[in-house]
Amino acid sequence: QADLAMYKAKGSGRNTLHFFDPQMQKDLQRRVTVEKVLSNSLNNHEFSVYFQPQIKVDNSIEGAEALIRWKSQALGDISPGEFIPIAEESGMIIEIGKWVLHEACSALEEWSSLGIGNDFKLAVNISANQLFSEEFVTDVQSIISQYSINPRQIKLELTESLLVKNISEAKSKMNQLKEFGISFSLDDFGTGYSSLAYLQRLPLDQLKIDQSFVRDLLDDKNDAEIAKTVVALANSLGLAVIAEGVESEMQRDRLVEFGCHSFQGFLYSPAIDREKFKHFLLDSLKKK
Ligand code: C2E
Ligand code: MG
Ligand code: MG
Ligand code: MG
Repeated sequence: QADLAMYKAKGSGRNTLHFFDPQMQKDLQRRVTVEKVLSNSLNNHEFSVYFQPQIKVDNSIEGAEALIRWKSQALGDISPGEFIPIAEESGMIIEIGKWVLHEACSALEEWSSLGIGNDFKLAVNISANQLFSEEFVTDVQSIISQYSINPRQIKLELTESLLVKNISEAKSKMNQLKEFGISFSLDDFGTGYSSLAYLQRLPLDQLKIDQSFVRDLLDDKNDAEIAKTVVALANSLGLAVIAEGVESEMQRDRLVEFGCHSFQGFLYSPAIDREKFKHFLLDSLKKK
């Protein structure tokens, strides 16, 4: 947690706080603005969900990750990296998260007529506040039930930092959803602090190697070693593994050497809108 250096300006009112650091003050102002604008964004239909393909070692399609996009009328494009933490803090993430899941299910329903098959999985990112909200399990079940899709086609991506907040509640909710058919992937793996003991207690299906280790895989021995270790760890725990942020053939080939057989990244495609993804699907199903 950043240490906010504040002082009371001489002669100003008792409750007037000033920041030493103008950049810090600017950041805070931006946050406040984004939070204010965010509260109308769902009603204004400013969000969309994009999809990034996940590709198997034989180049066939395994599934996709749903990634939210926000075109704000007032502020222009805002990245999820900026607004998701704000939505988490304000509580808006609960409503946004439900909306994303609806969109994901609706897309899956549409694509099922294209012949994607039952083993195609769509991954949806879940924040801590969502998982630990009281209605999470019933919300997810009821949303999925509104579409003609198989719950086995939905995968939820959780992060280590989220899970360690309350491992027993996380475990119990994951188990309930697993019984319903949903699977779980551990996102950004390697960047947190989780121990093997934690991992083994959770009903996970997949580890996702964080893109920070993939980025310098070819030049940085430590990153390569971590990526290799995550693959070995997944294998020994009986989990699937996928690498994110794969941008080049060379990175992919190195990951294949390590035993990784699923990939996501710009090498194949960035996240694209629903219509474009449909065409991506049609092309890749044609090649099959
Ligand atoms: P993430 O779940 O780890 O998603 C991966 C991010 O890496 C995405 O950024 C994706 O566009 C980007 N990416 C994919 N391939 C490459 C590549 O080859 N190179 C590089 N440099 N980047 C790549 P994005 O879409 O900006 O999302 C950022 C983060 O925001 C996500 O990280 C996730 O934590 C969060 N997020 C996105 N959508 C949602 C959502 O619907 N709900 C929640 N709770 N969080 C979301
Ligand atoms: Mg993710
Ligand atoms: Mg990730
Ligand atoms: Mg990430």
